[in-house]
Parts: sequence; structure tokens; C-alpha cells
Amino acid sequence: MDEDVRKTVRGIALLNASEHDGRTRNDAVISKVIGAMPELRARIKEIIPLISEVVGDVNAIPLDKQKSELESSFPELLTAKPRQDRKGLPMLEGAEHGKVVTRFPPEPNGYPHIGHAKAAIIDEEYARMYGGRLIFRFDDTNPENERLEYYAAIKVGLDWLGVRYDAVKNTSDDMELIYKKAEELILAGHAYVCTCSKESISKNRREMIECKCRAGDLDQNTKRWHKMFEKFKPGEAIVRYRGDMHSDNTVMRDPTLMRIIDEQHPLHKDRYRVWPNYDFAVAIEDSMDGVTHAFRTKEYELRNEIYYEILDKLGMRKPRVLEFSRLEFEGMPVSKRVLKPLVQEGRVSGYDDPRLPTLEALKRRGIVPEAIRKFVLSLSFTKSDTLAPFEKLESFNRKIIDSTSPRLFISVEPAKLIVKNNTMKEVEVQNHPQTDLGSRRIQLDGSFYISGMDARSLNEGDEVRLLELYNVRITKKGTPMEAEITGMDFKSEIPKIQWVPAQNAVKIEVLVPKILFVGDQFNENSLEVQEAFTEPHYLELNVGTEIQFIRYGYCRKDSASQAIYTHK
Ligand code: ATP
Ligand code: MG
Repeated sequence: MDEDVRKTVRGIALLNASEHDGRTRNDAVISKVIGAMPELRARIKEIIPLISEVVGDVNAIPLDKQKSELESSFPELLTAKPRQDRKGLPMLEGAEHGKVVTRFPPEPNGYPHIGHAKAAIIDEEYARMYGGRLIFRFDDTNPENERLEYYAAIKVGLDWLGVRYDAVKNTSDDMELIYKKAEELILAGHAYVCTCSKESISKNRREMIECKCRAGDLDQNTKRWHKMFEKFKPGEAIVRYRGDMHSDNTVMRDPTLMRIIDEQHPLHKDRYRVWPNYDFAVAIEDSMDGVTHAFRTKEYELRNEIYYEILDKLGMRKPRVLEFSRLEFEGMPVSKRVLKPLVQEGRVSGYDDPRLPTLEALKRRGIVPEAIRKFVLSLSFTKSDTLAPFEKLESFNRKIIDSTSPRLFISVEPAKLIVKNNTMKEVEVQNHPQTDLGSRRIQLDGSFYISGMDARSLNEGDEVRLLELYNVRITKKGTPMEAEITGMDFKSEIPKIQWVPAQNAVKIEVLVPKILFVGDQFNENSLEVQEAFTEPHYLELNVGTEIQFIRYGYCRKDSASQAIYTHK
């Protein structure tokens, strides 16, 4: 038997032992050895005695010696061990390849935002990582808040992000099943119908008092349950889980399972009026849909107890519930509570206002889906809520868009410059310094716009290069400024500035989004509008094109007369 094989076996046995409190076994080592050196399969008879021998030797040395030998002689085995996948997501506990099912369950009650992107991308990445499935499920059992517009917006957002799902469904399509499960709980005495007032229910919850509805018998509960579908008015009766009114976890103090809502449902109109609340619907759906790993943000953590208990009482399969932190940018709230009034009161122009963290706004601003995915996966997978720096998303975005963004000249706060002795009629300029994005011809007549900032910093006698053209000396500071050509040769020591031909300059406005909130104060100056001129070539670019304005920044063309500042 050659020494190489013995060495491989020893490494595998040491690694396996070190992971199992210092004890390894023949069978574990055999399968790993064959996995590492499949050519040995044919010689298995010869190898088994060797493996038993090595396993015996390894088990005879203490754990710390095993570990130190592993570190000194087989460091490659330690580093190769995947603790997380290459994208930075930690491995999932209890995940079997081909059997993982995740779900993304938004409520269609608002526009999708960066937080939804985080959830959907993580759900998708895990499904792919384990060769499993992603279910996209609208959790639409609260008709008061839900609108068709939001179903559509969420779907458009996911498609834009490039999140591929294996099935789409609505929780509201399972109402009959949910009624059946509620009835099952009532019949088994795990739930009851409570007709107390809202106020006394909250008071009793606070004071840990059991109301008399809780003591009602089965007959009373079934009668009341049926009355919920016709006679009772909204608020007059709810189905409550018989939890524990003395629990330290306030969620467990007989939480609501079903309630009456008379609002029209966007899909089912007035077909149903008894609706499950979140805790009930999500548990039933996740279990029925075959979800194995259910992610949600960590503020739901206290709800895990009710989730598992409901499934327990119904004898239903339990998914694993896992939490991650909420994603939000500093000064850019994602909560509907904050976003809705901003839109309604007209403080922002709509859900695609470039100051917002909605997907529509990020898209309009020029952030690309791949950058969002890279950014989400770069965040450490913790439960602690941290405000993510927007700059991090910007830097991923910049790397992606740089090679495909045509370069263009812009003059912000335009100042006129006349080059007295210009004789050039036209110049051809490459649209990108490295990538072949073609070139453009710019007509010249000696009059230009330069940026106000450059104009202010130039004085009579200064020499400056007009990029792609020639060097000039300022002969008169004023409006307009005047200059004379001093030569064509590139001089490294003089400043280089961009320009726009004045004769056919295109007037645009650049919207520069700034932080929306300073603390919890709305920033009245959160949208700066800069007047600018750019080259006529701008008009030939499609709306949506990302442009790098030289010495200014990346912008997305929003219309023929408006661009949105993406980032530096
Ligand atoms: P809101 O408070 O805005 O209503 P929500 O959590 O109720 O938010 P849903 O539309 O129900 O929003 O969420 C769908 C999924 O997206 C859930 O799994 C939720 O945990 C996740 N999610 C929502 N907001 C964020 C966020 N800011 N960061 C990470 N995940 C989020
Ligand atoms: Mg919600």
C-alpha cells in the first residue's frame, strides 16, 4: 500500500475525529476516502484493513493532539471545510440537498423596497444553494390594506431583481383550508371565540386575566364561530388561541387567530369576511407549502412560540423558522408607516422618487439589480439591526456599470467661454476610454460652456486643457470668459476640464437625491436640482442609459431633459 493513500486516510480520520469529540469510525472514514479518491473503489478490500488500522491509531490519541497534528500536517483539510458557501451565506442547519424549500411572503400592502430585496434574495440564494425550491407567496389576508396595485408592484420588483421563483401563490386562495384548521382547533378546545371588547381584551392581556369567553363550552364556541360568518359585526367576535394568559411572552396570551373584516378583498371581493391573522396564516401556509426553512426579520422572533404551538396542536409538519436583521439605510426609511404619508402628502413625488429605498426608486436612480444582490450577500448574516451604508451599495454598483456607461461632458451652473482663435469645426470623441462604445462627433464654433466651479477657479493668464481638444490661456475673466489656444500637446501639469459646445448644448436638470431624514426630521433639502448643459449626444441615448459625466459623476437618463444623479 503506498504512503500517499495512508496519508490521505490519516488526514480524513483526524478531521472526522476532531469533529466528533475525538472519535472516528471505519464507515465514516471509508466513504470519505472513496469520495476523495474514487479510483480506490476497485481496491476497497485491500484498503479496509488499512483504514481500520489508522482509525484505531487516531482514536488512541487525545483530541488536542489530533487537532494539532491536523493543523501541522493537513492544514488544507481545515481550510477546505465549507462553513459558509462561496457567497458568504452561512450553511443552513438541517438542510438536505434537493429538499430545501424557502418562501418569500410579502403582504401586498405597499411597494417593494430594499428590505424585501434582502429577504427575497436570501430566500432565493438558499433555494439555489441546496438545489431546492423558492415559493413566492402573497400573504394577502388583510383586505383593509391590500390592493391589486401592490401585488403587481411586488411582482415587477422581484422580476426586476432577477429573483427566480418556482411557484407563485396567494394565501387567500387557501381560505377554505384555513377555516378547516381553525375549526379543528376550536373543536379540540385549543381555540375559542371571544366577544369581549377590544379594550377589555388588551386590558386582560396586560393584567393576565382570563375572560369568561375562555371558559365557554364547545357548543358556545361552535355557535359563535358560525355566527362570525354572518351575524357578528367586525370587532364583535374573534377566534383566540387558548395560549397562556400568564406567559412571559405576551404573544402567547391568547392571541387572535381569526377576525372579521368586511372590506372588499382585491382578488376575492366579498367572498370571505372571516380572515386569519398573520400568526395563524403563516404557520398553516408554511407547513402546507412544504417550506423547510422559513426566514423572517428578527422582530418576529417572539412569534416563533405561537407558530410552533399551532402546528403542534394541529399535528402538522414544522418548518424551521430563522431570523435575519432588517435592512434599512440611514436616513432612508423602508417602513410603510413612514413611506405612505410622504407620498400622500406630496413630500416626495411618488414611490419612484429617487430619494426612496423602494426598488422602483433605486432602479430610477441607476442602481442595477446585480449590485443589490452583491450588496445583500455582502452584509454579514446577523440578527443585529445595523443601518447599512448606502455607499457600500454604490460601490458595488459603480464596479458593475463603469464599463458600460458612456462618458459625456456636462457643465453644471454653466459659464460661457469663448476661444478666440478656434478653427476646429468638429472633434471625434470616444464614448468610453476602455470599452468600445463607439464615438461621437461634436460640432465646434469656439464657444463653449464650462462648469461654474471651473470658471470661478480660473484667472487671467491661467493655462488649462479643454479635454479632447487643446490647451488655452484665459485672456479675460468675465461673462463670457475669453481664452486663446496655446497648443495641442498634452501637458500633465495644467488642469484639464470638460466643456459643452454652446451652439447646440442640451439643457437638462440633474436631480441629486440627498438623505431624506436627518434623525427623524424630514430633510427639506433632500432633493437638489442642478441646472446643466450637456452635449447633443445625450438626446441620442435611450431613457434609462447610465452615463458617466466626466468630472461630475454617474447619472441615469430619466428623460430628454432630466437626469438623476446615481453616485460619484
Ligand atoms: P412592513 O413593516 O413594511 O409592513 P413587513 O415585514 O410586514 O414590513 P412584508 O411585505 O410582510 O413586510 O414582508 C415580506 C418579507 O420581507 C418578510 O419575510 C419580511 O420579514 C421581509 N422584510 C420586510 N422588510 C424587511 C427589511 N427591512 N429587511 C429585511 N427583510 C424585510
Ligand atoms: Mg407586513
